[in-house]
Amino acid sequence: MAPAKTPDISSKRLSKTDYAANFSELHPPLSPHEALVESDRCYFCYDAPCMNACPTSIDIPLFIREIQAGHPKSAAKTIFNQNILGGMCARVCPTENLCEEACVREKAEGKPVKIGMLQRFATDQAMEEKHPYTRAKSTGKKVAIVGAGPAGLACAHRLAMHGHEVTIFEARKKSGGLNEYGIATYKAVDDFAQKEVDFILSIGGIAIKHNMMLGKKLKLKDVQRDHDAVFLGVGLAGVNALGAKDEDADGIEDAVNYISELRQAKDVAKLAVGRNVLVIGGGMTAIDVAIQSKLLGAENVTILYRRGAPHMKASTYEQDLAQTKGVKIMHWVAPKKVLVKGGKAVGLKCEYTALKGKTLESTGETFELAADMIFKAIGQTYMDVLGGTLALDQGRIKVDAEKRTSAEGIWAGGDCVAGGKDLTVASVDDGRRAAESINQFLKS
Ligand SMILES: Cc1cc2nc3c(=O)[nH]c(=O)nc-3n(C[C@H](O)[C@H](O)[C@H](O)COP(=O)(O)OP(=O)(O)OC[C@H]3O[C@@H](n4cnc5c(N)ncnc54)[C@H](O)[C@@H]3O)c2cc1C
Ligand code: SF4
Repeated sequence: MAPAKTPDISSKRLSKTDYAANFSELHPPLSPHEALVESDRCYFCYDAPCMNACPTSIDIPLFIREIQAGHPKSAAKTIFNQNILGGMCARVCPTENLCEEACVREKAEGKPVKIGMLQRFATDQAMEEKHPYTRAKSTGKKVAIVGAGPAGLACAHRLAMHGHEVTIFEARKKSGGLNEYGIATYKAVDDFAQKEVDFILSIGGIAIKHNMMLGKKLKLKDVQRDHDAVFLGVGLAGVNALGAKDEDADGIEDAVNYISELRQAKDVAKLAVGRNVLVIGGGMTAIDVAIQSKLLGAENVTILYRRGAPHMKASTYEQDLAQTKGVKIMHWVAPKKVLVKGGKAVGLKCEYTALKGKTLESTGETFELAADMIFKAIGQTYMDVLGGTLALDQGRIKVDAEKRTSAEGIWAGGDCVAGGKDLTVASVDDGRRAAESINQFLKS
């Protein structure tokens, strides 16, 4: 046998059948019969806790009752009234921390109503049909939206419903934001992100201009001059620094970039992955890159997180999923130094950590882990492309309850604003709220 290459980073680690199985959908949809049986489990609670836990406040008992009564398209309309990206949210929402955690059946018997799956059942059917909304009479008002992610798309759709003309300026060549470039492959298969964009645009009155980056080709003053209002949904384009020595060495990758490459790959078998992979971080991105590295054929994948399991931003469900896929999670471990050989990262020197009071400190014990690839998944940051035009709060755009920024006529929402939850559903909620506020402003 040929000796292993060092570092061992290679494509085509698996057979075609294995790739197909690994990158198929994690949870297949409910059949009509399963949906009926599941909808029957709902108690249709008064003042339903599931609804209060939904960031977009979807009337969950109502849509489940509509499914139970055999009207899945009415159910979809109930969902879309609050969340036009209800199809994607049904696939990617961490329901175990939101509506399903709050469900009374979760509290009573540890088995919540499968709200996410029912939402998907209803929205999938409706998205096959004619667009469910018609636009109000044209107002002649123009709104610019920067960023075609969940926040921008939700804002655009609601504004188009109110009869305004919307232009979305998007830096990348495809729309969808992280739905297109970030969400794990096995959560949204079959080009669903693009299908959802097409569904949203089919209301009419929304144009998208790609390869238009605010702060470069596109200047804010020009956008403001040509439009009556502006919404910013630019997400988080920056990456946090590790703060470890040699973190720019070859072999250290930004997890979000790698996931984006994977999402755009026509053939995942061509994507190279290490035999031994280390992932630094404790959120969804860390879990996603770790699982997907494993699915690409990495032999050993270890997540290093500097605090304990309950502190991880990734839900318990996601941590369990990673572990069932063979990912090892090491808690109370932080990278101290990148080990470099011939200009390439070959591992990490790590230290154990512990809490002293509220402060996280090194215990002084260190150890080394070998790696072919190391992913940084330690969070993203807002990149201020507007040179200080807008007030910031904790490094992100400061907004009020209606998503108004400090500048007259400019709204913002989604990951780029302060106080957000960094979830698709929360970004959709911001976009819709901002659109209602913009509509009031344009009418006054
Ligand atoms: C790897 C990963 C996995 C995730 N998985 C989940 C999940 O499973 N479930 C979940 O609920 N959430 C998940 N999230 C979080 C979720 O994707 C985000 O909260 C959500 O996409 C934010 O929406 P947004 O519209 O604010 O920003 P984005 O989705 O980031 O969209 C912003 C858009 O603005 C564009 N843009 C940026 N700067 C400019 C500019 N200057 N000019 C013009 N356009 C610009 C970008 O190209 C992009 O299209 C995940 C995030 C990551 C990174
Ligand atoms: S809390 Fe559970 S049982 Fe009650 S309405 Fe919501 S989904 Fe139905």
